[in-house]
Amino acid sequence: MLDIARLRADTPGCETQVFLDSAGSSLPPRVVVDTAIAHLKREAEIGGYRAANERLDDLHAVKTAIGELLGADPAAIALSDSASRSWSDFFYSVPLAPGDRILISGADYASNAIAALQRARQTGATVEHIPSDSSGQLDLDALETMLDERVKLVSLVHVPTNGGLVNPVAEAARIARRVGALVLLDACQSAGQLPLDVTELGVDALSATGRKWLRGPRGTGFLYVRPELALSLEPGRLDLHSAEWTAPDDYVLAADASRFEFWEHDVAGRLGLGAAVRYLLDQGPARIYAAVAERAEYLRKALPEISGVTVRDRGTQHAGIVSFTVDGLEPVRVRDRLAEQAVTVTVSHRGSTLLDMSARELHSVVRASPHAFVSFEDLDRFVRAVTTLH
Ligand SMILES: *Cc1c(COP(=O)(O)O)cnc(C)c1O
Repeated sequence: MLDIARLRADTPGCETQVFLDSAGSSLPPRVVVDTAIAHLKREAEIGGYRAANERLDDLHAVKTAIGELLGADPAAIALSDSASRSWSDFFYSVPLAPGDRILISGADYASNAIAALQRARQTGATVEHIPSDSSGQLDLDALETMLDERVKLVSLVHVPTNGGLVNPVAEAARIARRVGALVLLDACQSAGQLPLDVTELGVDALSATGRKWLRGPRGTGFLYVRPELALSLEPGRLDLHSAEWTAPDDYVLAADASRFEFWEHDVAGRLGLGAAVRYLLDQGPARIYAAVAERAEYLRKALPEISGVTVRDRGTQHAGIVSFTVDGLEPVRVRDRLAEQAVTVTVSHRGSTLLDMSARELHSVVRASPHAFVSFEDLDRFVRAVTTLH
């Protein structure tokens, strides 16, 4: 059984508000904050190098914990400062030539789409969109018909930023691999709320952030790269950590995913990320995931009962994001009015998922994303607060 009282006691930020923004930047458990602050203080006492040297085992354990979460070898993980950084570190290392095709998902995140457009302009490759099916999720039949040997990379988004659907990414990856395309999974909104096993998913690379469902510090992210593949890719930028200067005119790349990392990093943040992932593993990820799903489902049932409220989630399988609109009230107004009642939600704007929002003629949606530490009393308070908006 999940110990909700313990989860809440570990999360000081949930005492004074109803917090529904774990899809944006969640409330970290106490151990994450304490770990990061203790390290900053230690750096101030003895200097950053000695402070890091004292924590070498814990720093190594960050990748071990992430590897455990993903069913991956720690050597297949590269740490970074954001999901977009990790995604693009991989994406920009994939060789592209004129005539090559890049496929992106209909609900792909803006940063991914922008990078794809830039590389298409630079290389002469093309960018095409995989349509969504009538339920709103990735259209697997359409994907199948789009594929040929010129498709070099397929970008899949597991859970879009603007709604609660879960894309059938394992099936999509299986189809894409048949033509030899690389599959890059944006797991930014699934890491920490859905099971992620890189072997079962069958993806070549996966990126995620620390601050969302994993409840880590801001400025943290990571990349998984399939080990044999990592050895054949050369990142666009190197330093003395991702490569070794072996002769006046030569260098050798790191022999694992650390070729996608730079030497310098925020050590306190990285230790905090390790503490966050370890905290999740200790709670029992399956229990946390089930609690998130239960809370989101509760809201998806309760919100449509309120007059003027429309839940905007699509798809057949759902995750912890509940998107909705209120008739006659701009989503940013809804967010601000709820904030006055100590309820934290955010707004997802058209520009973040341009293709999907344009197709649905939506300008923005309110996003409520309850983590496992949110109580059902909190959810009821939120629903009552939405009722008072009209
Ligand atoms: C938040 C988000 C990102 C970007 O994460 P950053 O850590 O801000 O780079 C990418 N994809 C999706 C689906 C997201 O929701």
